[in-house]
Amino acid sequence: MQRVYLDNAATTPMAPEVIKAMTDVLTNNFGNPSSTHRFGREAKAIIENARRNIGAHINAAPAEIIFTSGGTEADNMAINSAVKDLGVTRIISTSIEHHAVGHTIDAHAETEFVALNLCKKGNPDYIQLEELLKDGKPTLVSLMHANNEIGTLLDIKRVSELCRKYNAYFHSDTVQTMGHYNMDVKEMGCDFITCSAHKFHGPKGIGFLYVNKGLNVNPIIQGGSQERGKRGGTENISGIAGLNAAMDLAYEDVEGHEKHVSELKQYMIAQLKEQVPGVNFHGETDPNKSLYTVLNVCLPDFENKSMFLFLMDIEGVACSGGSACTSGSNTGSHVLRGIDADTNRPNVRFSFSRYTTKEDIDFALSKVVKLVVEQNVTA
Ligand code: PLP
Repeated sequence: MQRVYLDNAATTPMAPEVIKAMTDVLTNNFGNPSSTHRFGREAKAIIENARRNIGAHINAAPAEIIFTSGGTEADNMAINSAVKDLGVTRIISTSIEHHAVGHTIDAHAETEFVALNLCKKGNPDYIQLEELLKDGKPTLVSLMHANNEIGTLLDIKRVSELCRKYNAYFHSDTVQTMGHYNMDVKEMGCDFITCSAHKFHGPKGIGFLYVNKGLNVNPIIQGGSQERGKRGGTENISGIAGLNAAMDLAYEDVEGHEKHVSELKQYMIAQLKEQVPGVNFHGETDPNKSLYTVLNVCLPDFENKSMFLFLMDIEGVACSGGSACTSGSNTGSHVLRGIDADTNRPNVRFSFSRYTTKEDIDFALSKVVKLVVEQNVTA
């Protein structure tokens, strides 16, 4: 039976190049990187070469890269460090951040929290942000680079310029954009950005936090002196090697990858408009304002809407209702609620990768048409 995977914002299949790099390390480099003998030194070299190479991909110094267990840990560390170590007394963010950010902010009940207004497409109110920053309170601005459910892209330069102007710290969750766009931390002007390898064909359980080297943050995990004393614990060497290989693959031809996936997304948008009367989209769809790997579709109402994701799965198409939604209903999505979307209508997120083909899109389209148009439309 044909199976098509269109849930790449949740996770991506591992690239053969990544599996090879990890297998080599697992086979040949079991040493503890903290050991001083040759086994240890070889393992340590793998980590430090990866740190240098990854830093070079994003124009960061090696010392600015802290390996973590993934995006969630990196987001937690950025926010916790800003509050505990940098004296932040206010966090400005939105209600549609990933839970790795939203719930971490919630945990700092003592810190003032301001949620920016959002437009229907999920863009924050930049004017309101500037008005707020003018009072000069010690502030962390935490705004995600691209929303993982609706794909709307932040004007990251505009936010970093505001943060510089008013001396606020800036954290951006770049988990969905790292490996998908060229990144230059000097140009971006963020204090913290985050990465998760499994979003771009690397392994799960590894990522990193970039911390601007001018900032003095305390350890996130107490223990040994790994990660320059910022995160104790014997390192995940094979994971780091896999992340490194995934970064190399991603940045080998990032424009080519973007072109391939963007064309598929625009094709799917055009075909849905043609074949599914009443279809709509959540978030931005303009290629310049929208993450090219994510398409959030608002379908017309139909009888079996609560079963839609399940039926798509039976038909061989893996897609999702958004990160918080597993049941096939939309009530779980804080993002759709946050942009005041009509959650009575069924919605589905299709997300693409370098391995997605036009045949995959045509197959998924045929199943949407079968379930929504041919069998079920009631409204
Ligand atoms: N932030 C965003 C925007 C995400 O999409 C995800 C993953 O779904 C995360 C953070 C968490 O990353 P990880 O799965 O590596 O913990």
